[in-house]
Amino acid sequence: MEYVSTRGSAPALDFRGATLAGLASDGGLYVPRAWPTFAKDKIAAMAGLPYAQLAARVMQPFVGNCIAPERLLELTTQAYGTFAHKAVTPLKQFDETQWLLELFHGPTLAFKDVALQLLGLLFEEFLKDSEQHLTIVGATSGDTGSAAIDAVAGRAKIDIFMLHPKGRVSEVQRRQMTSMIAPNVHNIAICDASFDDAQAMVKRMFGDTEMTGRFRISAVNSINWARLMAQVVYYFAAAVQLGAPYRKVAFSVPTGNFGDVFAGYVAAKMGLPIERLVVATNINDILHRALSSGDYSAHGVTPTDAPSMDIQVSSNFERLLFDAGGRDGIALADQMRGFETTRAMQLTNAQRDGAAALFSSERADADQTAAAMRWAWENCGEVIDPHTGIGLHAALATKLPAGVPMVTLATAHPAKFGPAVEKAIGQTPALPPRIGDLLEREERYEELPGTYEAVAAFVAERATASPS
Ligand SMILES: *Cc1c(COP(=O)(O)O)cnc(C)c1O
Repeated sequence: MEYVSTRGSAPALDFRGATLAGLASDGGLYVPRAWPTFAKDKIAAMAGLPYAQLAARVMQPFVGNCIAPERLLELTTQAYGTFAHKAVTPLKQFDETQWLLELFHGPTLAFKDVALQLLGLLFEEFLKDSEQHLTIVGATSGDTGSAAIDAVAGRAKIDIFMLHPKGRVSEVQRRQMTSMIAPNVHNIAICDASFDDAQAMVKRMFGDTEMTGRFRISAVNSINWARLMAQVVYYFAAAVQLGAPYRKVAFSVPTGNFGDVFAGYVAAKMGLPIERLVVATNINDILHRALSSGDYSAHGVTPTDAPSMDIQVSSNFERLLFDAGGRDGIALADQMRGFETTRAMQLTNAQRDGAAALFSSERADADQTAAAMRWAWENCGEVIDPHTGIGLHAALATKLPAGVPMVTLATAHPAKFGPAVEKAIGQTPALPPRIGDLLEREERYEELPGTYEAVAAFVAERATASPS
């Protein structure tokens, strides 16, 4: 399988190249040149497979010749063996039509583990026979950082530098990152900075030829294709349990960077009969505005109880604009350059129609989110986190044809956002036993002033040079 850039001018790469690169050199994102498809009988035969086997089967067409099928199965078995639930992504029933897909049984309690546990192994696999050494640099507002660090801690030929704005992530989130003590893990708390400041430093480093000339710098955020690929699997897992390919299924997805819900779009392109993908946003609703009126314009970010969805722009939306808009990379590069200058753009008719065929959107404010959390608690005895609450609000607000089940993706364990859960339903969720002593563990991190020079010097001193 070959991967092409959404901006049309970077060289096409194989799966290994696209995984190690993250971002394309023309600023675009990698997508497969064509969508592989599964015939109806192949989808029917997925019912009842163990998760690791299903994962290897769904991902093999994307991986192509880069990893042999037996080896891919070994990797998925290892990646999903770290999950605390045998089913990996168990499906729960709320009522006749509403279902909940729990994606938070990985080591750091958010759905990002599903993709990152595998990505860490893929990096190691692709580096083991080469001279190359990877320097992962990222900024996090919480969940990505801990999931990425857990996935690569102690792995050979990889260093990870994770920036977080000092004092602006929750204590559980910080400790999940800083209590991972390994020589290749470098946590950096940036003083007097916001997440956007930290993110801007990371972006600058990717464009800093002095750094990229010495180090092979890579990304672990959801611009990396391999992450999206791993997330396609649970759409298949849930749908075949609910009767696919003979019955259509809908999903409601708490959305920030548009990675998770784009994986649902990929599943539909591969032949999974999806009736609807509901993009659920909080009051930071650029996607809701884009999908309902075609207006994609960035406003400021307002902090909410669902911080992983507090975004100004959604990087992966570009993949949808590319695919739904007719795959014209040069035209999209133009459109994106316009957006980067004015922070606003209008979707083309082709992009709007292509998106409307599968997506709808809903927005939840704080009261609506809390009401959905109470609905789950009072009607079904389920404690859900605020991100999942936004998804459930959107699921309950969406009208579907009779007989179509609606699956809300549960993206975080409620204990990760304990105070917000307590405020909504009056119950404090306990931390699961597997991370019970988190609050006593030793922490290690460096505090740096909020200047790019300080961060670049810190990375340059500790990273391993690598031929490109
Ligand atoms: C990252 C995250 C999201 C948003 O996912 P995207 O793929 O960025 O749309 C939603 N909920 C939680 C808990 C997250 O950590």
